[in-house]
Amino acid sequence: MNYYSAPIARLIDEFTKLPGIGRKTAQRLAFHVIGMPHEEVSVLAETIIEAKKSVKYCSICTNLTDRETCNICNDKKRDMTVICVVEDPRDVVAMEKTKEFHGYYHVLHGVISPLEGIGPEEIRIKELLTRLAENEVKEVILATNPNIEGEATAMYIAKLLKPLGIKVSRIAYGIPVGGDLEYADEITLSKAMEGRREL
Ligand SMILES: [Zn+2]
Repeated sequence: MNYYSAPIARLIDEFTKLPGIGRKTAQRLAFHVIGMPHEEVSVLAETIIEAKKSVKYCSICTNLTDRETCNICNDKKRDMTVICVVEDPRDVVAMEKTKEFHGYYHVLHGVISPLEGIGPEEIRIKELLTRLAENEVKEVILATNPNIEGEATAMYIAKLLKPLGIKVSRIAYGIPVGGDLEYADEITLSKAMEGRREL
């Protein structure tokens, strides 16, 4: 039995595809949108399309930006001898909130996961190596999440970097194993950076 008219059912279906949105929340959002003034709905829809159209990968660190290079890479006051490698653009935000790290980042956009068919070529490791070849970097901090894939990815990168004579370190386990960097609080995260160990 159809409880909703087709356009509302479609809207609910689309909201359900978003992360963290269950059926119930999707219904609430759909009915909220239907109740919004026409102009507000237009602004919302256009904002989504505009964000999708204008956001691209930073040509240096592959973080998300609407310009050729991101705000962090454009900040010349940072320490160019240290690069912190993270899985996701959200991890850059988490790390920046600690205000403890003053180097640059490199975003992998994923981790090596044989189970999901994601090999080293599928994430941005090649770009990291190019960067290291062209710049004088003294330390690379591997800040992938402390779970199986994150560990395996860190070990893989560490092995690649060892022959280059660059110090490679791994963030400490203030973050619980299996935890997510994104959800670590700022103190835990800055302690994890402070207590990093050389690989
Ligand atoms: Zn950048």
